[in-house]
Amino acid sequence: MSGPSPIEWTDATWNTIGGCSIRSAGCGPCYAQQLAGTRLYTHPLYAGTTTRLKGKPVFNGRLTALPFDHPTWTWPLRWRGARAPILGPGRPSLIFVGDMSDLFHEARSLGYAMRVWMTAYRVAGRHILQLLTKRPEVMLDFVRRWQDVEAEDGDIIMANGPLDVRAAHSSGRSGLFADYLDTMGAPPAGAAYPAYDWMEGPRWWPDRPTNVWLGFSAERQPEFNARWPAMRTLAALGFTIFLSYEPAIGPLNLPDDFLALGRRAQVIAGGMSGRDAEPAHPDWFRVLRDQCRGASLPFFFKQWGEWGTDAPFSVDVSARRVYRGEIQTLLMPGSRTIKLAIPTRDDDALGPPLTLVRYGKRIAGRSLDGVEHDEMPEVRA
Ligand code: SF4
Repeated sequence: MSGPSPIEWTDATWNTIGGCSIRSAGCGPCYAQQLAGTRLYTHPLYAGTTTRLKGKPVFNGRLTALPFDHPTWTWPLRWRGARAPILGPGRPSLIFVGDMSDLFHEARSLGYAMRVWMTAYRVAGRHILQLLTKRPEVMLDFVRRWQDVEAEDGDIIMANGPLDVRAAHSSGRSGLFADYLDTMGAPPAGAAYPAYDWMEGPRWWPDRPTNVWLGFSAERQPEFNARWPAMRTLAALGFTIFLSYEPAIGPLNLPDDFLALGRRAQVIAGGMSGRDAEPAHPDWFRVLRDQCRGASLPFFFKQWGEWGTDAPFSVDVSARRVYRGEIQTLLMPGSRTIKLAIPTRDDDALGPPLTLVRYGKRIAGRSLDGVEHDEMPEVRA
């Protein structure tokens, strides 16, 4: 589960943690819980993390992590990078961190995020880590703690073990280091915790690794509105921000203060895939594409998902009777079964009803009005 990835907007995934719980409506078709409850059911990271509800696996809140000394934890240090990086030849490779979970789940120790963060500094210049969450308020809390070094003085204080670190230091950054030690478990007999050496170690690491992109998922306007304030603060702290509008389940308009980020931000948009996928209105994507274009903000159209309009073959549906809000199954010439839908549940403002076709993800493709959108944020030194 760590290595090159077919996900269109990254080069690789890195999974050292598992398990999650439902956060919002966009979690319904979560592929991570689907995989965790089926093909990866016996994998140590995912065993016991899902419960069957109405025949489908659903994350039950049990969180897991690989043992501290598992080699996957240091995989980014060894990885030489993608053969053809998405950002271009000679550019850093992108690593999507924890696509099978949420690193910033509120019940997970921030010690794991600390380990990821410290890895980022060590792979700077070679890799960019993409951290995506539905819990940006926890991500912000982490960053604030990392940037809090006020309480540390200039004296040499070495401390071993989480209790000693907390007793000797009171800054947010040292607290995260203690959390990180907590995630290690007790050292084996004869071994010791790594020492926290404020004067020689993390003191010198800058406030912000430049090779971390911080992302949030928002599947429609209410989720965006709830999550944007925390992300806006992270953007103001200088981070590159990305929005995953996938799977889109309702319309979304980006506010001016998001669009003002320009090439320091990115929008990734896409429809739903999987057996129970629902269609998305194409105008939801067009609105975002046009807003991004007007603001010179990178737009990445990942996929239509199961339902699309831009398929590479034409389907004459004009003579069919299609009912508002219903899905019909039709047998087309050549015995191909397709489904039609009019996804106009809440979108009367978007114009007349529209017919979408369930082509399947592969055929539906990822071109929007004939164009593939692959734009990425700028890489900053
Ligand atoms: S937060 Fe992400 S990983 Fe967790 S259930 Fe929702 S979609 Fe899945």
